[in-house]
Amino acid sequence: MSTPDKTNLLNLDQQGLKDFFASIGEKPFRATQLMKWIYQFSVDDFEQMTNLARSLRENLMSHCEIVAPEISETQASSDGTIKWLMRLPDGNGIETVFIPEDDRGTLCISSQVGCILNCKFCSTAQQGFSRNLSTAEIIGQVWRANKELACIPRNERRITNVVLMGMGEPLLNFDNVIRAMNLMMDDNAYGLSHRRVTLSTSGVVPEIYHLKEVANVSLAVSLHAVTDKLRTELVPINKKYPIVELLQACREYVKGGPRRKITFEYVMLDGVNDSDEDARRLVRLLSHVPSKVNLIPFNPFPNSPYLCSKAKRIAAFRDILMQAGVVTTTRKTRGDDIDAACGQLAGEVQDRTRRQQRILQMDGKLQ
Ligand code: SAH
Repeated sequence: MSTPDKTNLLNLDQQGLKDFFASIGEKPFRATQLMKWIYQFSVDDFEQMTNLARSLRENLMSHCEIVAPEISETQASSDGTIKWLMRLPDGNGIETVFIPEDDRGTLCISSQVGCILNCKFCSTAQQGFSRNLSTAEIIGQVWRANKELACIPRNERRITNVVLMGMGEPLLNFDNVIRAMNLMMDDNAYGLSHRRVTLSTSGVVPEIYHLKEVANVSLAVSLHAVTDKLRTELVPINKKYPIVELLQACREYVKGGPRRKITFEYVMLDGVNDSDEDARRLVRLLSHVPSKVNLIPFNPFPNSPYLCSKAKRIAAFRDILMQAGVVTTTRKTRGDDIDAACGQLAGEVQDRTRRQQRILQMDGKLQ
């Protein structure tokens, strides 16, 4: 449980910690010492930080705390995927998913409780929106998962990649997300390469330019359609930031570094966006953006209005892209037996948008 008058150190990146230490009369270089204890040794008890002087430990105990979200439920899929429901002090719950693969371990984390955007094919959207997550709640998911994985006997799985593809739109919680990503990449914390930290956005164009100014992370963009008409229907924020503006922002983003490519996510919806013509149009749209495409088989959820494209259709769509020279992968659906697949994360959202209620009313389930 967090205490209101104490500073939760998980809310501060290295610069923030240095400033904070100066403010309580401690040497700024203590920041990196503290970070190693917190993130590399998973220690949340100041007493255990044995290379710090007693007076410093006491100073820290009276001013600060280290509090990450608590796990309230764990579900393990038959394919090795683990989904945690993490409890927040205000009663909300968020979901975090670990996906082990042969050569990597990917942690999919949430950036908001629920989501304000209303993408038609996403289960989180139906939950409505409660609030942004704090930096501590974002990096705290990595901290908690890392600690949990270390507790599993004979487990060699480690977090090598982090993707902000859980609940929420990360670019609408900009500052907290940036601080958390800084910690993921800081050598005194998790030290992940910027290629292994991926932010996924539905296309909040001004914030893509902002991101380019302050961070160097991999960018994934949820495209999902090749005409504005269909994209606005599927991803309503497209009405505000249409496809040309989005692609222009993507082009600018990749100008920063020599090897950067944008990953375009494209959910495969049966008979909606999966024709040969759609594939050809996608090739044309992406011809001026260094890119790769990730086709995501649609994962259904209760009352979802779509079906997933047939495997043969997905393969034909992929072949058109590949033959045109677009690097294309098809995402393996992982953890679907525990509703941990893309777009199935629901958490426990104390909805302030009343969206859940409106959906139930439309279905005649609430009067
Ligand atoms: N708001 C961000 C990140 C969260 S969604 C974004 O839009 O990118 C992460 C990815 O899962 C997105 O590409 C999203 O479009 C996709 N997704 C959402 N619902 C899905 C579903 N039911 N089946 C498959 N993919 C889905």
